[in-house]
Amino acid sequence: LKKARNARDGVASYGSGDDLVHQRELQLISSLPKDLQLDRLHMVYQPKLALSSGRCTQMEALIRWEHGSLGTVSPAEFIPLAEYAGMIDLVSRWALEQVLAQQAAWRQAGLTFQVALNLSTSDLDNDGLAEEIAARLEHYRLPADALVIEITESTLMTDLQRALTTLNQLRAIGVRLAIDDFGTGHSSLAYLKHLPVDEVKIDKAFLEDLLEDEQAAHIMGASISLAKKLGFEVTVEGVETKAVRDALQVMGADVIQGDFFAPPMTASELEGNWPQLQARAATKD
Ligand code: C2E
Ligand code: MG
Ligand code: MG
Ligand code: MG
Repeated sequence: LKKARNARDGVASYGSGDDLVHQRELQLISSLPKDLQLDRLHMVYQPKLALSSGRCTQMEALIRWEHGSLGTVSPAEFIPLAEYAGMIDLVSRWALEQVLAQQAAWRQAGLTFQVALNLSTSDLDNDGLAEEIAARLEHYRLPADALVIEITESTLMTDLQRALTTLNQLRAIGVRLAIDDFGTGHSSLAYLKHLPVDEVKIDKAFLEDLLEDEQAAHIMGASISLAKKLGFEVTVEGVETKAVRDALQVMGADVIQGDFFAPPMTASELEGNWPQLQARAATKD
């Protein structure tokens, strides 16, 4: 976003390294619409593990872009650019369509789980969003609670009043709502309680010294128990080791997501891994 802001300022930077950054950003922004149209992007799915039941009941959809000349481009780079360039609605519509079509196919094949889609806070400015999503769910004959929408805490809080109408509409059509990267913004759990939110995803930054630093462990433990007392489902993301999984289980986390249980995978990898994922989930190992 910082880069995007620099681009907006339009500060001429001839002769500096910024030039290359600008070139890359321009190249990305200008090729994005065409690459979306040609399906040169794809979604990967990261399984989540419910600790109490040992079951895998939800995936998070994450976007991937293999750019023709720039190679793999991270969403952490191009999503903020697309937001800045006013193209995020293109990305979000495309991603919604991919996720729902895939989910419909999975359900027909007997694979049933919720799929979480990341949307940007600026998507919530679209007055017709909930109606549009309801129509696409109906088109694919999917129940609304098959879809979870994740919104990042920090950006949501910058313009909450505008976002709130759409959040309420999404909740009204039966879609589940999750607050992503919780702890990186400035909101409190007590405040979130006033929003139509079902799930809180604690940011992976809080895992950094969980096992070494007693205070970090206290903060995590207290956040999890408060969030649960307030009625949120609590997911912790970025879990990479069994030791962290075990610690979070003791602290009462509902769900973990991260490379320890499973990394993001393509739809066909997921289908291939599904029996193993279920078996692994059952043994909670
Ligand atoms: P996020 O929604 O918080 O997604 C979690 C990120 O953590 C993903 O990065 C995932 O690959 C990564 N991750 C998962 N497990 C682990 C782990 O064990 N260790 C570590 N270090 N990382 C792990 P990714 O896929 O690069 O996505 C980055 C961000 O880009 C996402 O953060 C989300 O904010 C955004 N994003 C991704 N896909 C979409 C999309 O379709 N639409 C929108 N608007 N944003 C998206
Ligand atoms: Mg997310
Ligand atoms: Mg996150
Ligand atoms: Mg994130």
